[in-house]
Amino acid sequence: MSPCVKVPGDLPLPITSDHLRYEPPSAVTGRTDVVTVTPWLAPIVWDSTFNGALLDAIYMPRDITIATTVFAVGEYVRFLKDFLETAERHFFVGFKVHYYVFTDRPDQVPSVDMATGREVFIRPAQNHRRWQEIGAGRFKVIADFIETELHGRANYVFCFDVDAKFHSRWGPETLGRLVAALHPDWYGRKRHEFSYERRPASKAFMSADEGDFYYPAGAYGGELPSVHHMLTTCNDNFQMDAQQGIEAAWQEESHLNKYLWLYKPSVVLCPEYMWRDGILPTPPNIKMIRFSGVVKDYTKIRPGWPGSEV
Ligand code: UDP
Repeated sequence: MSPCVKVPGDLPLPITSDHLRYEPPSAVTGRTDVVTVTPWLAPIVWDSTFNGALLDAIYMPRDITIATTVFAVGEYVRFLKDFLETAERHFFVGFKVHYYVFTDRPDQVPSVDMATGREVFIRPAQNHRRWQEIGAGRFKVIADFIETELHGRANYVFCFDVDAKFHSRWGPETLGRLVAALHPDWYGRKRHEFSYERRPASKAFMSADEGDFYYPAGAYGGELPSVHHMLTTCNDNFQMDAQQGIEAAWQEESHLNKYLWLYKPSVVLCPEYMWRDGILPTPPNIKMIRFSGVVKDYTKIRPGWPGSEV
């Protein structure tokens, strides 16, 4: 008889191989150097806490489509080639993936070989005088896009910064209702140190005794309705701040952090999933790097940055 896995809300589905053999899980041994579950019982996904082959076998029969959004506005289009090529090597390999590239330079989108079931779609994006507006503007664009185009066409959506590369597996261990990563600069620090917005006048305000983790705006995702709710709420709060002449300390990231304090993520990804190339040496609890931001020269790419050449 086929082994079956009950998928909540769906009929039980058989895993793809009747003969899948793997090390049985232990209830008493495992990683002890890091915390692998939040106080609200969401998994914190670290290397060695999951079996990738088993998860692939569970999710493959569901025939899911993963949408990804990535903005490449202005000079940031230069990062697309590496982003897409490395995603083809590591991101949901064997699954249907649709990359939606939002750009003002469609003619500069590189042509990258895609595996079957995987495709790049180009969508227009507006450039802005200030880099802060490009990042923060993503919330509304992605929320509208989920509503008008993605609904019914994908099961999950992940939203990424483009100035980053995949280095190893990113697969169905990251799927959940609402998924956020731990920021590599802050994951070992205390909540009062986090770079949350600290001015009470802002909708993103967090007091010193609030907050779970510090989450980056460079990688998050989940099921469409949850991501849509998060983005519309954050955008509304961002706009309300703007009407009062306030811009939160880290723009959209500050609002994202406020939201994720009030509406907890159902899956938390450890910083393997959102690293930054400049952090050296890599701490011992980071066993592998899966996705990492590249080191960049802001004067060459960011409009409105001090000394900017663009
Ligand atoms: N971005 C863009 N063009 C810009 C500025 C930003 O396309 O001129 C997009 C791009 O996807 C980038 C993301 O916004 O990865 C976040 O901006 P940035 O990387 O500058 O922010 P950081 O993470 O360095 O604070």
